[in-house]
Order: sequence, then structure tokens, then C-alpha cells
Amino acid sequence: MRPRKPAIRTCIGCATSEDKREVVRFVRTPDGTVEVDETGKANGRGAYVHATLECFELAIRKRKIASALRANVSEDDIGRLRADFERALRHRGALANEDGDA
Ligand SMILES: [Zn+2]
Repeated sequence: MRPRKPAIRTCIGCATSEDKREVVRFVRTPDGTVEVDETGKANGRGAYVHATLECFELAIRKRKIASALRANVSEDDIGRLRADFERALRHRGALANEDGDA
């Protein structure tokens, strides 16, 4: 067994593989809604997107999150997911002061 095997995930936005630490996980909860999984450990079907708004928008516009998770993603869901995703990026320091709300 090799020590420290890297955990690789594929971004559904740009379809590039990346270290697990560089992606944000989305999860389909047991009741069928899609949520941002900031812990990366929530139960349910998951999909990964780079921690960038570019990849999030790609994944949303091409409906890749919906198809990867086999879930319905409404316009309301998209707004909620975008807000949660941006918050997750801020927690990582990946979106520092970009929208000037400091
Ligand atoms: Zn990506």
C-alpha cells in the first residue's frame, strides 16, 4: 500500500481532475434537494466542482449538477446554491473581498 494516496475528484464544470482539497462537494440529500456540502462528508450522492465561480457557473448552466446528482434543480435552487457556494469559497479564502461587502 502506498502512503498518502491523493484523493482525486473530477470537476463536473470543466471536467478536469483535481485534488479533493481544490473542489467543493455538492450532495443530493435524502429528500432529493441539492445542497453544498461544506464538510465533504454528508451522506448521499455527491458531485464535485472546482472552488471557483467559473466552474460553478459551467456546472449550473450545462445542468451538470442536476444530471450528475439525478436531481431536479430549479431556478430557486440555483440562487440558493450560488449563495451557499460563494459562502463556501469565502470560508476557504478563495473569494476574498471580490464583491466588496467587507
Ligand atoms: Zn473545474
